[in-house]
Amino acid sequence: MENSKIGRRFEGKVAIITASTQGIGYSIAQRLGVEGASVVISSRRQRNVDEAVKKLKEQGIEVMGLVCHVSNAQQRKNLIDQTIQKYGKIDVVVSNAAANPSVDAILQTKETSLDKLWEINVKTSILLLQEASTHLTKGSSIVFISSISAFEPPAGLAMYGVTKTALLGLTKALATELAPHTRVNCVAPGFVPTHFAEYITSNPAMRKDLEGKTPLKRLGTTEDMAAATAFLASDEASYITGETIVVAGGAPSRL
Ligand code: NAP
Repeated sequence: MENSKIGRRFEGKVAIITASTQGIGYSIAQRLGVEGASVVISSRRQRNVDEAVKKLKEQGIEVMGLVCHVSNAQQRKNLIDQTIQKYGKIDVVVSNAAANPSVDAILQTKETSLDKLWEINVKTSILLLQEASTHLTKGSSIVFISSISAFEPPAGLAMYGVTKTALLGLTKALATELAPHTRVNCVAPGFVPTHFAEYITSNPAMRKDLEGKTPLKRLGTTEDMAAATAFLASDEASYITGETIVVAGGAPSRL
């Protein structure tokens, strides 16, 4: 969507988006920023952070960029500390980082991969929120980025899918724990051609097959995911908590 057609729902708000120097996280930062938020972006590599900050600033977005590997406790603390030092509060947290280190069947997955999947996809989201919790404003909003594979973990993505299923439970549990001060919701994307999904979406036959199976006959875009995330994070969703929106072109998820 053209920036000129987008509203200003996040004027005066401060938003932290993890894993946000490219792909879905970047588009979420861009969308919240275009709508008036001060956005705090981060990822593992300084060069990626610098490039993304430059691109967002060129669009007139108020942005701070930091290196934060979500597994690094010091960097997580620094992300929150620097946000508070510069902006004084946190209105929105989008927990977007994930890893998929294995395509093995679950019972063949090495313990190191199981640990990494749990750590990056679930545990560090909790640890970051523990760090952020005392700074969350009244009316604040948390959005987890899960996956369509959470609903029926497919072969090749099975254990990754299971960690994404855990985020659906985490959304429900935290929505209760943090109500009424903070809302907690989740977005479950279908396939989006980013670096993360490259091994599937860059294969023409696999891509065609996926598009054919999707009722809306296309893959998702990072902007599709950003639009749903922005809705859930905004006051327009002020009576919605504990929910997951599937943004997958009609791909089967649940009744
Ligand atoms: P992406 O385009 O590959 O981007 C990943 C971003 O995360 C990059 O900015 C990367 O930057 C950063 N990053 C990677 N590991 C990190 C870590 N440990 N700590 C901090 N930052 C890290 O990925 P994406 O497709 O946008 O995926 C984003 C989210 O969407 C994930 O949760 C994924 O599971 C979910 N999702 C994606 C799809 C899809 O089809 N693409 C479908 C369903 C769900 P650095 O390299 O600098 O760290």
